[in-house]
Amino acid sequence: MSSCNHYIDNQQKSSEEVCSNNLNLKSLSLLRYFNLFLMKQTYKHIFWDLDRTLWDFEQNMRITLKDIFENHNLKKAIPSPDHFIDTFVEHNNKLWASYQRGAMKKEVLRFKRFEVTLKDYGIRDKVLAEVIGDEYINESPKKTALIPHSIEILDYLHSKYKLHIITNGFNEVQFTKLKLCGIEKYFDKVVTSEISGYHKPRSEAFGYTLASANAKKQESIMIGDDIEADIIGAQRFGINQVYFNPSGTPHNEKPTHEIDNLLDLKKIL
Ligand SMILES: [Mg+2]
Repeated sequence: MSSCNHYIDNQQKSSEEVCSNNLNLKSLSLLRYFNLFLMKQTYKHIFWDLDRTLWDFEQNMRITLKDIFENHNLKKAIPSPDHFIDTFVEHNNKLWASYQRGAMKKEVLRFKRFEVTLKDYGIRDKVLAEVIGDEYINESPKKTALIPHSIEILDYLHSKYKLHIITNGFNEVQFTKLKLCGIEKYFDKVVTSEISGYHKPRSEAFGYTLASANAKKQESIMIGDDIEADIIGAQRFGINQVYFNPSGTPHNEKPTHEIDNLLDLKKIL
């Protein structure tokens, strides 16, 4: 073979390789789009967490605690409403974790979180803690701040999928929130941990909720803001997940999808 032929032969080979690589890339992209299309079609049921995913827990809690601060004239002992809120949040997080582990009853949690908060400011008054505890449970669910774009995304998804709620909150509180902030109409099944008897991330909580919605695992996806309760829980149970992480909290998990804005769900669902 002359060196010229050899050159032509190599050139031909390399253009064939480029062509075949291009075809492979095209087939891969097509396959990927086809899979994405299929994935979109396989979901029939979307399971939503409520607090901090749709209902703006932080904002609603702050408004309620500021009202309580004013109503009970707490400024006599506490520097500011924000100081009171920060102390409450610290105690509430610890006590809520005990409640979720089953180590504390909800009747105790209701007032205990205020009893220890008040004690930090030298107020030792169990009766006041009980009054404030009841006021918080009665008033906070009436607050109606939602996470940005909640209504828009629920409107978009409602016509395409069956939507359900799976939440660890108290029964009377969660149903009031859904009703008063006007999103109750979007949901087919609402299952609280009180109804199922189990808290997320326990698989039993997901199992009960999927069974009551008559949903199969492969047709279901979970959306939530809590990496442990919503994402790891759903992963262990065997359903896909969307981690709603608006503040970009670092983590080592591998959720099926991760978003920082609810409108990003339009790209997935
Ligand atoms: Mg949540």
